[in-house]
Parts: sequence; structure tokens; C-alpha cells
Amino acid sequence: MNQLKGVGPKFCQTISKLGIKRVIDLLLFRPIRYEDRTDLKEIIDLKLNEQALVQGKIVRARVVYGKKRSLEVTVRDQSGELIIKLFNFSKYQQESFSPDLYLSAFGRAIMVGKRLMFIHPIYSFSKARPERPEQRLTPIYRLTKGINQSRIARLVRTTLKENVSNIDPDLLKKVQKIHSPQTIDKAEEARSGIAFQELCAFYISIARQRELSANEKSVRIKRYVEMEDKMMAELPFILTSDQTRCIQEIFRDLKEPKPMSRLLQGDVGSGKTLVSALIALSFAKANSQVAVMAPTEILAQQHYTNFSSWFEPLGIEVACLSSQTPNKKALEIKKALLESRIDVLIGTHALIQESVEFSTLGLVIIDEQHKFGVHQRARLLSKGLYPHQLVMTATPIPRTLLMTWYQGIDVSTIKSVPSGRKPIRTHTVSLENRTRLIEEIKKAVNQENQVYWVCPLIENNDGLDAIATHELMDELTTKLRHCTLAELNGKMSSHEKNQVMLDFKQGNIDVLICTTIIEVGVDVPNASNIVIENSERFGLAQLHQLRGRVGRGTKPSRCFLTFKPGLNDIARRRLNAMRESQDGFKLAEQDLELRGPGELTGTRQSGELNFRVADLDNDFSLVPKAIEKAKYLLSEQEKYGDEINTLLQVWLPKPSSSFS
Ligand code: ADP
Ligand code: MG
Repeated sequence: MNQLKGVGPKFCQTISKLGIKRVIDLLLFRPIRYEDRTDLKEIIDLKLNEQALVQGKIVRARVVYGKKRSLEVTVRDQSGELIIKLFNFSKYQQESFSPDLYLSAFGRAIMVGKRLMFIHPIYSFSKARPERPEQRLTPIYRLTKGINQSRIARLVRTTLKENVSNIDPDLLKKVQKIHSPQTIDKAEEARSGIAFQELCAFYISIARQRELSANEKSVRIKRYVEMEDKMMAELPFILTSDQTRCIQEIFRDLKEPKPMSRLLQGDVGSGKTLVSALIALSFAKANSQVAVMAPTEILAQQHYTNFSSWFEPLGIEVACLSSQTPNKKALEIKKALLESRIDVLIGTHALIQESVEFSTLGLVIIDEQHKFGVHQRARLLSKGLYPHQLVMTATPIPRTLLMTWYQGIDVSTIKSVPSGRKPIRTHTVSLENRTRLIEEIKKAVNQENQVYWVCPLIENNDGLDAIATHELMDELTTKLRHCTLAELNGKMSSHEKNQVMLDFKQGNIDVLICTTIIEVGVDVPNASNIVIENSERFGLAQLHQLRGRVGRGTKPSRCFLTFKPGLNDIARRRLNAMRESQDGFKLAEQDLELRGPGELTGTRQSGELNFRVADLDNDFSLVPKAIEKAKYLLSEQEKYGDEINTLLQVWLPKPSSSFS
């Protein structure tokens, strides 16, 4: 990236967090969605709650002293007047709204009292009457700390102008279209063309790995049944028959000399962690080290707590490493690991750092595997000599997809959750009925129930119409006066997060106001109620995962999905599906059906992307064709060597992936 103008080392580091290390990575960094900021409307035609562009003359600007100080700018076009309202503004901004100028403002129209407003729109000034803009969609990118939309958009624009000489012209044409399309359809067409290439490259690398691994010699592991019995004797329950069967299936693989590659699949709360622990046990006892990688700190910490309580009485050494582990401690862990003094290392992405070295890594366990990229898994595997691999997921990938895609990966499924669980009752609640919802939660807390209360945002400062944890905290502090509340979000330090989670687990907190940080894996059996705010903003799979945080104990559980009135048809059907089904498979299938065309270009969460541009759910139909193309290229390697190399260079840039 250094080669780009205006990009210094610090900025390089920042964008590398988004996976952007090379120019091509930036070009393939696909927008998560688009906004049509060229959708010019006359003020009179503005539709409530819809975004549009307005152009008009500034009539006046004045500071208003209400509950909060604000700047109100009145703009007039030939059809009427609109108020632009800013809550945070500088003296300079205030003065820049001078009445002889024209203003172009893109925002969402809302009604406050009888007045039509844009709150914190995107705006620009001009001296002359502005031209009607040419239709173009504005890309919205995934961000990370230290970078904002305009910076990344600018970088993409200049790169596309200046640094593309060695990029395949066909790919380049598509890349240009995804960053600056005229319509959603055109963007999608280009994206799916790029996705096809990515899938093809991925299949080539899988095929090659498989060829290699057929001859590999992994450690063979015998089952230590007595140790398992000893561990299970300490637990208040016995294994379900599905768990037992999965363990047997796994040990059957482990008797073979070639590396196991197995997916352990089971709905949320089905008890996958315990299965993985019982496998890890036999490795540890055979002096073969185990790495357990989880996508969030909270989850890694939780696994650490569980694994240590199960393993330490058996003389197995467990450690936990994340990016938040203090330096000194991390060094100690790394040293101990290399000297075989640690048997099981649990952690987040931190495990794939170069400085983490095992002495004998025999098994890699990846929890919530859909949250990791292909490359991240490969990096962890490369730390051992042909380690076995057990990946786990609750996000149920429709079977058809599994069969095609994971050819070569074996699957074990836990079909039923442990008995004694009560079903979760799901209610959909319009925001108009919030007061009743809060009453309901108050009652639940009085009856010793713990509650997760999930919001889509932490702070509401970009004018989005969604509930944020900070706001909710303020609201509930007054409305749930006798309850103990705490906030949990990704911006807190890991120490704070762990403390809050611990307090919640120990029952010291009644209501945990959190973001989707708890989406995967978090296990607090006593929590029996979950409220998900603005549930219309989440996909079915994500809602199902979130809901899976409750219903883990013996208490009857409830899930409340709040929504803003005026749902569109798809959103309504989605929430109904949630209310009617608790079966992850069924919901995953419906998830595919109930996606609006707008969503095809991706409102999906960043972490979910195993791929950079492809999206396995939406691009499912491309998979067979991509495999066919890959097979064709591979069948004539002499002829297509260059093409294969280019594909791998673009998509899987590791020294080991170059094809020779
Ligand atoms: P997931 O499959 O979603 O990862 P977990 O492994 O977190 O589920 O397990 C959910 C809960 O079920 C945990 O509290 C765990 O202790 C409990 N559990 C696991 N196996 C059993 C079992 N056989 N009987 C009862 N409870 C179990
Ligand atoms: Mg889990």
C-alpha cells in the first residue's frame, strides 16, 4: 500500500485491519451497501423516513435553545421549506450557512411537530443554482477505528485513477462498477462476476491442498475414556446421544494417519463446546497440543473458564491469549507453549500471530468458524505438522450448500439440544408498545430472571433511526429503577468487558444492555429473557443466534423482537418466521428466500465474510460453475498455469499458494 500517494505507514496499519494490504485488496474491498445521494426530490415530494437529496436556497440560519442547543437552517425550493437541524456544530459551520447560498442536502425526512426536517444531513454549498446531479450510487464501506467513509472513498477513487496499470482489464472494469455504479443491478452484476473469480480461486487452492494432504502423516490419537469419565463425573449432566455419536465419529477419523477435517454442526445451545473439550482431552493426554480459536474475546474468555475448570483437575494446562493479554503475560505464554508446558491454548485471532509457536500442535479447534476467513484458518493450521482440524458452527448452512461446498470436509451433526430445556417464546413488539415491554421486563426481573437487551448501535450520532446502548442505558436507568443495569459493547476495554460478563454470569446484573457482541457463543444459563431492539435490521440467521443466548437453562425463556411500525413485507415475514420457528435449519432456508433485492449487495456483517467479495448464501448458484471452471483450468495446468497463478496471487496471496 505504501506505493500510494498520501498513504503513510500509520495509515497502512489502520487499513490493514480491514484486510487491505495491497492495492488489489483495496480495489476488491467491496462496499457493504450503496446510497443514492443523487435522488433529487422537491421538498413537497419528500417521503417520511426515506432518504433523498434536496436542493434549495438558504433562507435563514439560527441557533435554537431547546433541551439541547441546535442550529436550524431553513432551506426553500420552489415547492416548499425544509429545516436542516444540527446538534453539534462549530461557530464556523454556523456562519457558513449564509442566506445567499444554495444548499444541497442529502438526508432522511422526518416530521418534528408540524415541521419537516433533515437531522445532520450530508450537505454542500454552492453560489450558483446547483445542477441536477447525474445518477450515481455512493458506496458505503465497512470502517475501522481511524478511518472514515470519505477517506476510504477518496483512496479508492485515486487508486482507480492512478494505480491500476497491472490489473487485468476485465477485472478492472468490474471493480470500477462496484465502487461507482449507476444502479444496484449494475453493481450486483459486476460483483457477482468478481465473486465467481474468487470462488474459482478458492476451489483451486482447496483441490491442491487435498492433493497434498492425501499423503500427509498426522499424529494418531487414542481415546482416553477413563479421563473422559473422570471429567464427566464432575458435571451435573450426562452427554446427549448426539454428543456421544459425534465424539465417536471424530475418533474414527483420528485413528487414520491423514489429517481430520471435520465440521461439527449443531444448533445454538446444543453443546458443541463440551464435545470439542472431550476431543481436546485425549490430545492433551497424548502430549499433543490443542489450539482453540474463537471470534470474540468474551467467547475466548468463556471457553478458557470452562476448559480450565474441566481440565485442571486432570493435570492439563490451559492458557488464554488475546490481543488484550498484557505483553509480559503473553511472552510467558508463548515461551511455555514452545516448551510444551501448555497443553491447550485458547484465544482469539491473536493465535495466528507469527510469534505464537507450538512445539507439537496436533489439533486445531475453530469455534464459530463462519466468523473466520479462509486464510485465518489456514494460518493457524500452518503452525503444526499436519494438525487435525475440528471446526464448529451453529449458523446452519443449508444442506445443499454443505454438500457441494464442503466436499472433502466431513460433517457431524448434533440434532437435538439437551433435554429439559424449555422452548423460547418469541414475541414481536411494535415500538409503540414499548412501555408495556418495559413493564414486562420489570416483572421478569422481579422474578429473578436475567435479561439481555440488545441494540444495533452504541451511540446514535449519525442520525440513524435506531436505538443505541448509551441511550437505552439512560432510558432504563429511570424506567427500571430497581434493577441493576450494565452496559457491554465492543468499545470497552477487554478488562471491563470480562468484568461485566463475569458479573452477569454470577447474577449480579439483572439487565445487560449490549450490542451484538454477545451474538455468538455466550453462555449464561440463568439468562432467560432477551430483547432485541430494531430487530428488523438484523438477518434471520443473526436473530436466531442472538435468541440462542436464552433458553439454555431450565427456566422458560422469552425473546422480544422490537420493530419500528411500518415494516415492509419482507421484514414482517422475517419476524413472523422467527416467531414461528426455532429450528435453525428452517430459518436459514427462509433467510435465503426472504432477502430483498437491495440486500443482495450486502448488508451482511463483515466478520461473516469468509470471502472478500463472494457471499456463500447469495452466490450459491455460482458455486457449481466456479468449481467446473476451476477443474477445467486444473485439468490443463500446462496451458493455464499463468491464469491459475494470477488467480491465486489476487485472491490467496501466500507464498505457498503460488502455483508451480
Ligand atoms: P453451543 O453448541 O451453542 O456452543 P454450548 O456448548 O455453549 O452450546 O452449550 C450450551 C449449554 O449447554 C452450556 O451451558 C453447556 O454446559 C450445556 N450442556 C452441554 N452439554 C449438555 C448436556 N449433555 N446436558 C445438559 N446441558 C449440556
Ligand atoms: Mg458455542
